[in-house]
Amino acid sequence: MATIICVLYDDPEDGYPTSYARGEVPTIERYHSGMTTPTTERIDFTPGELLGSVSGELGLRKFVEERGHRLVVTSDKEGPDSVLERELPEAEIVISQPFWPAYLTAERIAKAPNLKLAVTAGIGSDHVDIDAAIEHDVTVAEVTYSNSISVSEHVVMMILALVRNYIPSYQTVVEGGWNIADCVSRAYDLEGMQVGTVGAGRIGSAVLRRLKPFEVGLHYTDRHALTDEVEKELGVTFHADVEEMVGVCDVVTINAPLHPETESLFDDQLIGKMKYGAYLVNTARGKICSRDAVVRALESGQLAGYAGDVWFPQPAPEDHPWRTMPHHGMTPHTSGTTLSAQARYAAGVREILECWFDGRPIREDYLIVQAGALAGAGAHAYSAKGR
Ligand code: NDP
Repeated sequence: MATIICVLYDDPEDGYPTSYARGEVPTIERYHSGMTTPTTERIDFTPGELLGSVSGELGLRKFVEERGHRLVVTSDKEGPDSVLERELPEAEIVISQPFWPAYLTAERIAKAPNLKLAVTAGIGSDHVDIDAAIEHDVTVAEVTYSNSISVSEHVVMMILALVRNYIPSYQTVVEGGWNIADCVSRAYDLEGMQVGTVGAGRIGSAVLRRLKPFEVGLHYTDRHALTDEVEKELGVTFHADVEEMVGVCDVVTINAPLHPETESLFDDQLIGKMKYGAYLVNTARGKICSRDAVVRALESGQLAGYAGDVWFPQPAPEDHPWRTMPHHGMTPHTSGTTLSAQARYAAGVREILECWFDGRPIREDYLIVQAGALAGAGAHAYSAKGR
């Protein structure tokens, strides 16, 4: 019998929902690349329900218990007395979400001698110490593509919200006001602007595809260039490095993983190379931007706006300066956990567990670390220290 710890965010403050705004979510069978959405024996949940919070349990309990294993679901993940810390010595599998990450540090991995599999219910496994996972032969897997489109839609929404000054205008309405000049004195059209993405993988290229009809100039920088055919289809310009790209862009969106190469990439120096009054949208990982450099740039006007849904740490403390800095459009980490996305990543976790219990290979696309080395999607997008 394996112990599986599943760390999820808390239920809604008013309790677990008994009804939903919509009756169903569309069924998506394939992603843009042709890759199939998660494929399982069956699912024990209704797509469109809240699966990502503690009572939703990712719809896993029946399946896990039928297989004779023990499932512990908790949101309690910090400090030595947390449920996570107490259960870790027994755990074979830890399932966590980037939205409410169970940070699997080197110390925690060392304290979990039975740990064999760390599953990310979503995408982005930087909350797992990849080097420690490699060293301790812990397989790391995530549900690649499950919420890429969810995030790309959020990016487009945030770009429009910043450029058009949507949030302060909405606030004017809520507060009973009607001062149009106040609302429009920072409002522009996106049309004609230059928009660039750092990283043109699944999310970055989906953002480019969605922005194409807005008649903007599109740019990207990436470690691997897109094919000529895709560049042509999107009408996007490649830049060999990020400095060159940010110098020509009015809007920059970050869609690369957090790894040693990207940590604190957007510091005072790089933000200083952006066009004056540029907008920066980061739904990748909070640590890719220097927290205080962003605040300084918004205060000086170097950045006209900053938005995103990723912070460090998560949950962000109440006094995190990104909550109160000027001209921001931050949300908690929500972009990749819409009800639509939850249905896909819950099924993806189940697919990974079915493979694990049956001794079948996990899809190459889902693997980050396996057999003591970067593997699959991880070998492509991540870098390990000293490797
Ligand atoms: P992909 O792996 O498909 O794409 C990431 C791209 O970034 C790859 O093309 C990769 O290049 C590129 N890249 C890596 N390092 C650099 C660098 N130093 N400079 C420029 N480009 C770089 O990942 P996804 O698009 O699916 O996801 C991207 C990230 O978004 C995730 O790692 C995660 O952190 C975040 N995310 C956030 C979510 C949210 O809810 N806010 C949900 C899902 C993901 P190469 O191909 O050459 O390796």
